[in-house]
Amino acid sequence: MSRHPSIWPTALSHLKSDRPDHPVLYFAPQALQDTACRFQSGFDGLVTYAVKANDARVVLENLIAAGITTFDVASPAEMRKLRAISATVDMHYNNPVRSRAEIAEAAKLGVVSYSVDGMSELAKLVEIVPPEGVEVTVRLRLPVKGAAYDFGEKFGEDPDGAVKLLQAVVEAGFTPAMTFHPGTQCADPAAWSVYIDTCADVARRAGVSLTRLNVGGGFAANRGVAPDLEAIFAAIHSAVRDAFGDTRPGLVCEPGRAMVAEAYALATQVKSLRDCGSIFLNDGIYGGFAEAPLIGVVDRITTMKPDGTAHQAPLVPRVVYGPTCDSVDRLPDPLMLPETLEEGDYLIFEGMGAYSTATVTRFNGYGAIRVITVQSNHD
Ligand SMILES: *Cc1c(COP(=O)(O)O)cnc(C)c1O
Repeated sequence: MSRHPSIWPTALSHLKSDRPDHPVLYFAPQALQDTACRFQSGFDGLVTYAVKANDARVVLENLIAAGITTFDVASPAEMRKLRAISATVDMHYNNPVRSRAEIAEAAKLGVVSYSVDGMSELAKLVEIVPPEGVEVTVRLRLPVKGAAYDFGEKFGEDPDGAVKLLQAVVEAGFTPAMTFHPGTQCADPAAWSVYIDTCADVARRAGVSLTRLNVGGGFAANRGVAPDLEAIFAAIHSAVRDAFGDTRPGLVCEPGRAMVAEAYALATQVKSLRDCGSIFLNDGIYGGFAEAPLIGVVDRITTMKPDGTAHQAPLVPRVVYGPTCDSVDRLPDPLMLPETLEEGDYLIFEGMGAYSTATVTRFNGYGAIRVITVQSNHD
């Protein structure tokens, strides 16, 4: 009888012993808790987590254990998931477009903050949510560059509209705040400062003193270059000081990607190798690599033979296909992989915790990605 530990030391130790022929995600709770601590010690305000990046129960539980008290939710299903774990965490409903039924359920589940980006959406809140003790944040939109892709086209109100909306929030009796989202995988501190300056300007023009300013998510994860989160925090803090002076609002941030990316590594196996050098993996863009066509592949990859030994050969560019019968199931750029790669070898991609399990499909019968808990995702 074989006895497997419930927590493995590393991905490598599990792969060598188990030799799975399906993709595996390796979850390192310690890495998640360390990142939560890094945000909480570096960011001068309330650190919340954007549940959509990865809504696994173990992720939410570990964040709560690490001291995260507030979560950014986008739907009643995410709220129910949280409420099943904790009756006391605070929820910020920052998807600014909602049906009336969704608003009613949010109010029942105790949402304490809602974002809005238009008068018609505020009108729905006014109708359904009693304003006492409830915050409404006006979401600003600007044409800002610096992120892998920005959300400004779909959501947000421009500065003139935001002035009127902020005044209407106060008239309705809600606690006034502002928010923005600089776009995801954003490595440029200037993206935040432009938004912060404009929020201060909007508040001044509206004659409203903001209780809080939510600077969104969008913090970059390690995609080849380790992000300098502390430099981004410093830029945010100094932009807020410069823009607001003595009337500085309380700060909130809501990272998704940067909080959870490092907590998971994804192991895939080479199913087939073509004469031309291209390879087929047992996971692709309908699975853990759903984001690859939009923002590229995480380029920290370890290759190993099934017995755990490393390849020594030089790296060559290889076209990489996923397992489904769809021809778009292909990674956007060739990956640099060993010349000696063979069928059955494993590729381990680090930093795969965000927008991987959350967006996986079961297309063609694939997409059942097993999760194994490990002490560390580094060997
Ligand atoms: C998606 C989202 C986030 C998290 O974005 P990341 O890029 O994953 O940090 C935060 N806030 C809002 C409103 C979002 O829609």
